[in-house]
Amino acid sequence: MANLEVFEGDITGLQVDGIVNAANEALAGGGGVDGAIHRAAGPELLNACRAIGGCPTGEAVITPGFKLSARYVIHTVGPIWRGGQSGEAELLASCYRNSMRIALENQIHSIAFPSISTGVYGYPLEAAAVIAVDTVREWAEEGSLEKIIFCCYDTRAFNVYKEIVVSQ
Ligand code: ADP
Repeated sequence: MANLEVFEGDITGLQVDGIVNAANEALAGGGGVDGAIHRAAGPELLNACRAIGGCPTGEAVITPGFKLSARYVIHTVGPIWRGGQSGEAELLASCYRNSMRIALENQIHSIAFPSISTGVYGYPLEAAAVIAVDTVREWAEEGSLEKIIFCCYDTRAFNVYKEIVVSQ
Protein backbone atom coordinates (compact mmCIF):
# COMPACT_ATOMS: atom_id res chain seq x y z
CA MET A 1 0.00 0.00 0.00
CA ALA A 2 1.47 3.34 -1.03
CA ASN A 3 1.83 6.00 1.63
CA LEU A 4 -0.51 8.99 1.35
CA GLU A 5 1.06 12.26 2.49
CA VAL A 6 -0.10 15.84 2.61
CA PHE A 7 2.49 18.55 1.97
CA GLU A 8 2.17 22.33 2.04
CA GLY A 9 4.25 24.19 -0.54
CA ASP A 10 5.26 24.43 -4.17
CA ILE A 11 4.88 21.26 -6.22
CA THR A 12 7.72 22.21 -8.58
CA GLY A 13 10.34 21.69 -5.85
CA LEU A 14 9.30 18.16 -4.91
CA GLN A 15 11.75 15.31 -5.37
CA VAL A 16 9.39 12.72 -6.79
CA ASP A 17 9.30 10.63 -9.96
CA GLY A 18 6.26 12.43 -11.31
CA ILE A 19 4.27 15.56 -10.63
CA VAL A 20 0.75 16.11 -11.89
CA ASN A 21 -0.15 19.34 -13.64
CA ALA A 22 -3.64 20.89 -13.55
CA ALA A 23 -3.51 21.79 -17.24
CA ASN A 24 -6.02 23.19 -19.73
CA GLU A 25 -7.39 21.36 -22.78
CA ALA A 26 -4.98 23.14 -25.12
CA LEU A 27 -1.98 22.12 -22.96
CA ALA A 28 -0.87 25.69 -23.62
CA GLY A 29 0.45 26.58 -20.18
CA GLY A 30 -1.35 29.18 -18.14
CA GLY A 31 -1.60 30.59 -14.65
CA GLY A 32 -1.58 28.89 -11.27
CA VAL A 33 0.18 25.59 -10.87
CA ASP A 34 0.35 25.13 -14.66
CA GLY A 35 2.37 28.34 -15.05
CA ALA A 36 4.65 27.42 -12.17
CA ILE A 37 5.38 23.98 -13.64
CA HIS A 38 6.12 25.40 -17.10
CA ARG A 39 8.42 28.05 -15.65
CA ALA A 40 10.34 25.50 -13.61
CA ALA A 41 10.55 22.89 -16.38
CA GLY A 42 11.67 25.35 -19.07
CA PRO A 43 10.43 25.96 -22.63
CA GLU A 44 10.97 22.37 -23.75
CA LEU A 45 7.88 21.43 -21.76
CA LEU A 46 5.68 23.66 -23.91
CA ASN A 47 7.20 22.12 -27.05
CA ALA A 48 6.42 18.64 -25.76
CA CYS A 49 2.84 19.71 -24.96
CA ARG A 50 2.44 21.24 -28.42
CA ALA A 51 3.57 17.99 -29.98
CA ILE A 52 0.81 16.16 -28.10
CA GLY A 53 -1.66 18.81 -29.21
CA GLY A 54 -4.26 18.79 -26.45
CA CYS A 55 -6.08 16.76 -23.82
CA PRO A 56 -9.83 16.48 -23.19
CA THR A 57 -11.21 17.26 -19.73
CA GLY A 58 -10.88 14.25 -17.42
CA GLU A 59 -8.04 12.67 -19.36
CA ALA A 60 -4.27 12.79 -18.84
CA VAL A 61 -1.05 12.72 -20.87
CA ILE A 62 2.61 12.37 -19.87
CA THR A 63 5.74 14.31 -20.82
CA PRO A 64 9.28 14.44 -19.48
CA GLY A 65 9.93 16.85 -16.61
CA PHE A 66 12.88 18.54 -18.35
CA LYS A 67 14.49 20.93 -15.84
CA LEU A 68 12.29 19.75 -12.96
CA SER A 69 13.73 17.27 -10.53
CA ALA A 70 10.66 15.15 -11.31
CA ARG A 71 11.36 12.83 -14.24
CA TYR A 72 7.80 13.15 -15.57
CA VAL A 73 4.91 15.57 -15.67
CA ILE A 74 1.45 14.05 -15.98
CA HIS A 75 -0.87 16.71 -17.39
CA THR A 76 -4.53 16.29 -16.58
CA VAL A 77 -7.41 18.64 -17.31
CA GLY A 78 -9.83 19.21 -14.47
CA PRO A 79 -13.44 20.27 -14.99
CA ILE A 80 -14.51 23.88 -14.68
CA TRP A 81 -17.01 24.11 -11.82
CA ARG A 82 -20.45 24.97 -13.23
CA GLY A 83 -22.55 24.36 -10.12
CA GLY A 84 -22.09 20.59 -9.78
CA GLN A 85 -24.75 19.30 -12.20
CA SER A 86 -22.51 19.10 -15.27
CA GLY A 87 -20.64 15.90 -14.46
CA GLU A 88 -17.90 17.74 -12.58
CA ALA A 89 -17.46 15.10 -9.87
CA GLU A 90 -17.10 12.24 -12.37
CA LEU A 91 -14.68 14.26 -14.50
CA LEU A 92 -12.56 15.19 -11.50
CA ALA A 93 -12.40 11.55 -10.36
CA SER A 94 -11.44 10.65 -13.90
CA CYS A 95 -8.46 13.06 -13.73
CA TYR A 96 -7.10 11.27 -10.68
CA ARG A 97 -7.86 7.82 -12.09
CA ASN A 98 -6.18 8.50 -15.44
CA SER A 99 -3.16 10.13 -13.77
CA MET A 100 -2.70 7.10 -11.53
CA ARG A 101 -3.07 4.73 -14.50
CA ILE A 102 -0.38 6.61 -16.43
CA ALA A 103 1.88 6.68 -13.36
CA LEU A 104 1.61 2.91 -13.04
CA GLU A 105 2.19 2.37 -16.75
CA ASN A 106 5.45 4.31 -16.38
CA GLN A 107 6.65 2.51 -13.25
CA ILE A 108 6.50 5.70 -11.21
CA HIS A 109 7.25 5.11 -7.51
CA SER A 110 6.39 8.53 -6.13
CA ILE A 111 3.86 11.07 -7.39
CA ALA A 112 2.57 14.46 -6.26
CA PHE A 113 -0.83 15.90 -7.09
CA PRO A 114 -1.91 19.54 -6.83
CA SER A 115 -5.50 20.24 -5.82
CA ILE A 116 -6.91 19.94 -9.35
CA SER A 117 -9.70 22.36 -10.38
CA THR A 118 -9.83 24.19 -7.04
CA GLY A 119 -8.06 27.36 -8.23
CA VAL A 120 -9.24 29.29 -11.27
CA TYR A 121 -11.61 26.43 -12.23
CA GLY A 122 -13.60 27.07 -9.05
CA TYR A 123 -14.32 23.55 -7.74
CA PRO A 124 -15.24 23.76 -4.04
CA LEU A 125 -12.16 22.67 -2.10
CA GLU A 126 -13.69 20.24 0.41
CA ALA A 127 -15.68 18.36 -2.22
CA ALA A 128 -12.70 18.19 -4.55
CA ALA A 129 -10.40 16.94 -1.79
CA VAL A 130 -12.76 14.08 -0.90
CA ILE A 131 -12.80 12.96 -4.54
CA ALA A 132 -9.01 13.29 -4.76
CA VAL A 133 -8.30 11.19 -1.69
CA ASP A 134 -11.02 8.58 -2.38
CA THR A 135 -10.01 8.05 -5.98
CA VAL A 136 -6.28 7.91 -5.36
CA ARG A 137 -6.78 5.49 -2.49
CA GLU A 138 -8.55 3.02 -4.77
CA TRP A 139 -5.31 2.79 -6.75
CA ALA A 140 -2.82 2.97 -3.91
CA GLU A 141 -2.38 -0.79 -3.65
CA GLU A 142 -1.57 -1.31 -7.32
CA GLY A 143 1.81 -1.76 -8.92
CA SER A 144 4.85 0.34 -8.38
CA LEU A 145 3.59 3.23 -6.29
CA GLU A 146 5.18 3.78 -2.89
CA LYS A 147 4.45 7.41 -2.13
CA ILE A 148 1.54 9.66 -3.10
CA ILE A 149 1.69 13.30 -2.05
CA PHE A 150 -1.18 15.77 -2.06
CA CYS A 151 0.63 19.04 -2.53
CA CYS A 152 -1.33 21.96 -1.12
CA TYR A 153 -0.31 25.48 -1.90
CA ASP A 154 -1.83 27.11 1.17
CA THR A 155 -2.63 26.27 4.76
CA ARG A 156 -6.37 26.08 4.20
CA ALA A 157 -5.99 23.39 1.55
CA PHE A 158 -3.38 21.60 3.67
CA ASN A 159 -5.78 21.42 6.62
CA VAL A 160 -8.68 20.19 4.48
CA TYR A 161 -6.62 17.42 2.86
CA LYS A 162 -4.98 16.44 6.12
CA GLU A 163 -8.32 15.96 7.82
CA ILE A 164 -9.66 13.81 4.98
CA VAL A 165 -6.54 11.65 4.75
CA VAL A 166 -6.47 11.07 8.50
CA SER A 167 -10.22 10.45 8.93
CA GLN A 168 -10.64 7.89 6.18
P1 ADP B 1 -7.30 24.88 -11.89
O1 ADP B 1 -7.40 25.68 -13.16
O2 ADP B 1 -7.32 23.38 -12.14
O3 ADP B 1 -8.25 25.33 -10.86
P2 ADP B 1 -5.08 26.30 -10.55
O4 ADP B 1 -3.63 26.23 -10.89
O5 ADP B 1 -5.78 27.59 -10.72
O6 ADP B 1 -5.78 25.13 -11.42
O7 ADP B 1 -5.28 25.81 -9.07
C1 ADP B 1 -5.19 24.46 -8.65
C2 ADP B 1 -4.58 24.42 -7.27
O8 ADP B 1 -3.15 24.54 -7.38
C3 ADP B 1 -5.02 25.53 -6.33
O9 ADP B 1 -5.31 24.96 -5.07
C4 ADP B 1 -3.78 26.43 -6.24
O10 ADP B 1 -3.69 27.07 -4.97
C5 ADP B 1 -2.67 25.42 -6.39
N1 ADP B 1 -1.36 25.91 -6.82
C6 ADP B 1 -1.01 27.05 -7.46
N2 ADP B 1 0.31 27.12 -7.65
C7 ADP B 1 0.84 25.97 -7.11
C8 ADP B 1 2.17 25.45 -6.96
N3 ADP B 1 3.24 26.09 -7.44
N4 ADP B 1 2.31 24.24 -6.33
C9 ADP B 1 1.25 23.56 -5.87
N5 ADP B 1 -0.02 24.00 -5.98
C10 ADP B 1 -0.22 25.19 -6.58
